[in-house]
Amino acid sequence: MRPSNRILSGIQPSGDLHLGNYLGAIKNFVSLQHTYECFFCVVDLHAITVWQNPKLLTKQTHEVIAALIASGIDPTKNILFAQSAVPHHTQLAWIFSCVARMGWLNRMTQFKDKAGKDKENASVGLFSYPTLMAADILIYLATHVPVGEDQKQHLELTRDIAQKFNNDFKTDLFPLPEPLIFGEATRVMSLRNGTKKMSKSDPSGYSLIMLNDSSDQISQKIKKAKTDSMSLPSNLKEALQRPEALNLLSIFAALNDASIDIAINQYAGKEFSYFKKDLIDLLVNKIEPIGLEINKLMTDKSYLDKIMFKGKDRAIVVADSVLSSVYETIGFKISQKSP
Ligand code: ATP
Ligand code: MG
Repeated sequence: MRPSNRILSGIQPSGDLHLGNYLGAIKNFVSLQHTYECFFCVVDLHAITVWQNPKLLTKQTHEVIAALIASGIDPTKNILFAQSAVPHHTQLAWIFSCVARMGWLNRMTQFKDKAGKDKENASVGLFSYPTLMAADILIYLATHVPVGEDQKQHLELTRDIAQKFNNDFKTDLFPLPEPLIFGEATRVMSLRNGTKKMSKSDPSGYSLIMLNDSSDQISQKIKKAKTDSMSLPSNLKEALQRPEALNLLSIFAALNDASIDIAINQYAGKEFSYFKKDLIDLLVNKIEPIGLEINKLMTDKSYLDKIMFKGKDRAIVVADSVLSSVYETIGFKISQKSP
């Protein structure tokens, strides 16, 4: 039977986690864990679509698990695991790469952004990434996927794949998963460029607030954050024309669980230096404790390994049964069950 409220979401161990990952994804996971059955996956197979140093990849995998727990995810209730530990993801991804059309993948903006000008030199995996993401979600028949705004297009593709599979095989096996994109900072921008997404893969350290930044680092980065030379905007319409101001105000609102309008009203016409002081205090208050907890958890890797090991076992039970149904639907007759 199909579940009605199951979540899958993934985070890549492709670098240290930043404020965008927290506000766009993890903070929302924390509130959703009470009402949904949650699968949270460290998507290491996605990370290797660009080269990763093996030692750092292991460390960053632990860090994602540590960050989830430090932010308030209950590791006993939710299923936390590494994608590569459940081979069913890649098995279903192959099937989905036969369902998805080249034209669909050619429209994906993340590939264009990440491959840049040197498309010929990008890995095949970077191009087919969204078929693996669809498999990550649908191997658990997940109904909802909490993500940042940047993943909306991949979610639409996941729905297209699920729909085409269901149509092609005259089945209703797969749900059409809904994105859950909410909060006031669904797309946190770089602190150096208000038109560019804050990303782990961004080379400039000053563009990101890391979850394990010290209070001094947070303070320095916000002081240096790019702004325009005017005072703060007095309404949303004006803020929308000023990307750097909008970004900092959105971060402030999201951290405070308040609306952007409230933040705008509070600081309308004030100088950036005045607002930045309050923003630093708020960030230090909310982010520094998470960073300290991450660092503490990182001193006990065997605890993090145990959580991932248990999570993998729980995930495999579900993935096994869904993959069997997929194989049966397709007509693969070498059954996993003995005749
Ligand atoms: P990479 O640069 O390697 O792609 P990333 O910073 O984009 O890394 P991901 O692991 O790809 O991080 O994404 C993890 C989650 O964080 C996803 O749900 C994604 O939508 C969300 N996310 C990533 N960056 C931002 C951002 N700047 N603002 C809001 N949400 C974000
Ligand atoms: Mg990303």
